[in-house]
Amino acid sequence: MATFTYKRTNKVLLIYTGGTIGMGKNPATGALEPLDFNCLVDNLPEFKYLKTGIEVYQFASPIDSSDMAPRLWAHLVGIIADNYDSYDGFVILHGTDTMAYTASALSFMLENLTKPVVLTGSQLPIGQLRTDGKENLVTSIDLAASHHEDGTPMVPEVCIYFSGKLLRGNRSTKQNAEGFNAFESFNYPSLCDAGINFNFHHHEILKPNYEQPMVPHTALDSNITLLSIFPGIQENIIRHLIEAPELRSIVMRSYGSGNAPQHPWLMKLLKEASNRGVVVVNISQCIAGSVEMERYDTGFQLKNAGVVSGYDSTVEAALAKLMFLQGMYRDNGTVRKLMHKNIAGEISV
Ligand code: ASP
Repeated sequence: MATFTYKRTNKVLLIYTGGTIGMGKNPATGALEPLDFNCLVDNLPEFKYLKTGIEVYQFASPIDSSDMAPRLWAHLVGIIADNYDSYDGFVILHGTDTMAYTASALSFMLENLTKPVVLTGSQLPIGQLRTDGKENLVTSIDLAASHHEDGTPMVPEVCIYFSGKLLRGNRSTKQNAEGFNAFESFNYPSLCDAGINFNFHHHEILKPNYEQPMVPHTALDSNITLLSIFPGIQENIIRHLIEAPELRSIVMRSYGSGNAPQHPWLMKLLKEASNRGVVVVNISQCIAGSVEMERYDTGFQLKNAGVVSGYDSTVEAALAKLMFLQGMYRDNGTVRKLMHKNIAGEISV
């Protein structure tokens, strides 16, 4: 019987999309704006001490990640798919503002991923004295190149590395606009803690099928809205949102373990939407914990109105998963069914 061997290339592809890490001050306005990648490399003599080779792919016009969009996620998937066999792993330099959305989207779009895809960035530009960018970048490259004795990577997942922690991408959320610990994963443990040594948590890391190919997906459908419940919510305003003709799904941010006010109009609107095929996914406004619609009557009525549980998903992962599933399937019934399935480690079911 032929034994499987994993081929290593000893190279990592660094994909520069923009973000604070590579920004500099516009002399006229004083505001930070993305710079060319070479300005970033000039600030990194450390590159030559890395054990892996590095090659660079730079976005033609680097962006502030507030301008990230589904078509750019498809572009990133294309870059990774086209270069898949030539690199051991991929590091994506990305602004922090939408990094968790991009990481979530890529985790669904790169099916059976067998290589690390590590997203990182920084809170201070790499050219500034107290920058966190150097450590984040150098450690991310090191993590993307880390492997077992048989050559298989330590972390064959889409992850975010920031401030000493490697987190599952679709479990991460930006939690701090000031501190260096910009990201946290509240409902799933870290995959690796980077102190003096790397401490990998092997049993938490996904195990892909190395004998099967990675399957890239680029079709996304973002006919979705995000609805956050609050005391005083008004029927006339919400009705316009829920009755939008193109709408295929709603991520509804509810209270606590998945509860909403018992307004008959809200239940009626949600029920009518579900009957039209709109998939309403219930995600808690709490940063930790899971939706349990059977716990209180105020959650149970949502279940009766056809709302589906988002379990312990982040908002970012729920939105990305819906875009991905809607891109894959025209039929909303299939989308609804697959929201209950753990596809890329994004929910605990
Ligand atoms: N606005 C920046 C961006 O997301 C912030 C950052 O990089 O941290 O591109």
